[in-house]
Amino acid sequence: MKNYKILALKYRPQDFKDLIGQEVLSKTITNAIKVGKTPNAYLLTGIRGVGKTTTARLIAKALNCENNVSKKNNCNPNNFCDSCRDITESRHIDVLEMDAASKTGIDDIRDLIENSKYSPTSASFKIFIIDEVHMLSKQAFNGLLKTLEEPPPSLKFILATTEVKKIPITILSRCQRFDLKRVKIDQIFNHLDEISKKEKGNISSKALRIIAQVSEGSVRDGISLLDRAITFQNANSKNEINDQDVRNMLGLADKSKVINILKEVLEGNSSKAVDILKELINHGIEAKNFLNDVLEVLSLMNRKLSLGSIKNDKILPEEEINLINQISNGISIEDIGLFWQFTIKTIDDLKIINDEEITLEMYIMQLAHLKGMNTSLVESSKEEITNHNELKKEIIKEEKDFKENNTLKIKSQLKNTDQVKNKAIEQPKLKTAEPVKIKINSFEDIVKLAIQENEIELKYDLERNVKLVSFKNGTIDISFNEKLNKNFIKILTEKLYSWTGERWIISLNKKIGEKTIFERKNESRNKIINEAKNNKKIKMLLEAFDDANLINVQKDDEK
Ligand SMILES: [Zn+2]
Repeated sequence: MKNYKILALKYRPQDFKDLIGQEVLSKTITNAIKVGKTPNAYLLTGIRGVGKTTTARLIAKALNCENNVSKKNNCNPNNFCDSCRDITESRHIDVLEMDAASKTGIDDIRDLIENSKYSPTSASFKIFIIDEVHMLSKQAFNGLLKTLEEPPPSLKFILATTEVKKIPITILSRCQRFDLKRVKIDQIFNHLDEISKKEKGNISSKALRIIAQVSEGSVRDGISLLDRAITFQNANSKNEINDQDVRNMLGLADKSKVINILKEVLEGNSSKAVDILKELINHGIEAKNFLNDVLEVLSLMNRKLSLGSIKNDKILPEEEINLINQISNGISIEDIGLFWQFTIKTIDDLKIINDEEITLEMYIMQLAHLKGMNTSLVESSKEEITNHNELKKEIIKEEKDFKENNTLKIKSQLKNTDQVKNKAIEQPKLKTAEPVKIKINSFEDIVKLAIQENEIELKYDLERNVKLVSFKNGTIDISFNEKLNKNFIKILTEKLYSWTGERWIISLNKKIGEKTIFERKNESRNKIINEAKNNKKIKMLLEAFDDANLINVQKDDEK
């Protein structure tokens, strides 16, 4: 790991021309410097590794370049003026770099401001580069603000940050802001390819492509990974580094395995799918990477279904493209949409669930289940269509009877809500042998159905271990406690499907939902008890007997 950083440093851009992916920004900044219209403070924002510090140094060079003043010749990496050379080597006396991540206090800023009062020693400008400026303390920002408001003419600030939202608006309004973009995969790929050739790295184009992809827009990350791959190769053998080597190095799944898992899922072989998954887990894949791969394959399947066969994808080899083309025949656009949503949801779930392995296993089985439900829906729909109209009439009539019946009962027993609920449950069951679809309008309806259908465990979970975050027809968002049955979602999805004939999406949410049904029942009972305690007769009773306590209140008709 000795040369881990070397390539990234070696290929750090020394000239705006070398700064890839930021062409517009480079041009704007250099043109402004040429005509002498420069701001007192620059603010550079962008994700880590995108080139903020590098850009800051390039700006410093351009501002202080001796050739700018004399205009004799153009400065370039092969023929730097003294100023440019000193900045490149980080030893320019008038260019000071400070990392706000380690120096956040007012004292650090005070030193800097004190220093700013003196004119530059050798260059045109004194330049302060403050990296990760959002880390400064409030006091430090206030200290800085005074200087930013009235800066000496020969003082320039270059601030860089990954988190622009954390910077006070008073500071922002005194800077000229430049947003560095994520560099495109193709640009990173070409850049890595060039470096790899210069370094005589024996690495396949597919392998480079993977590195470019996982760099997520950061040139520095890309170069560091390339460095690692080349070091890895030198340590092992002189063979070419191929895509599989890079996948192993990065903990990425072999995409053909991901495609095969989806294939098994679509063919209904969930146990085979789980077997392949376990193989990948043994190879040390990361759950998030795996799920992102699934998303990528799904998007390709979607493309195949909407636009026809996929050809010539730059990312995937031909065999894999063929496999995707083939398995896409077994899925509908709707299913892809469903899978997509569910995958994104699972990526989110990873933040709350500790065990990645269980999450992934559960995910695969749920996918198979989602697909299975859709298939059976298609098969049974043929039969259903013929009976549909009669059935519909029957349901409407039964629903009407049910409602009328219920309303009467509610009116007669208005004061006792518990009992109304019990009576409602005692209603004659809708004929369960036929595929009668029940309408569910609320979370409470589900609890009622669970009681009605004798799903004791489900009822228990629904009442005690689950908090409702939001309820829409077809989607339920819940938060839960650690006691919740592991198969809860699976069971509930199945039950909801068999009750309503519709696919419901149940998702876990980190938000704290409303109180559990159990908690609410307890509260209302306590309220009744407290009210009763104020009753004169009961008060007398409680006072007469020292150890007496009121623990329950029952209405007469509740016996
Ligand atoms: Zn120069």
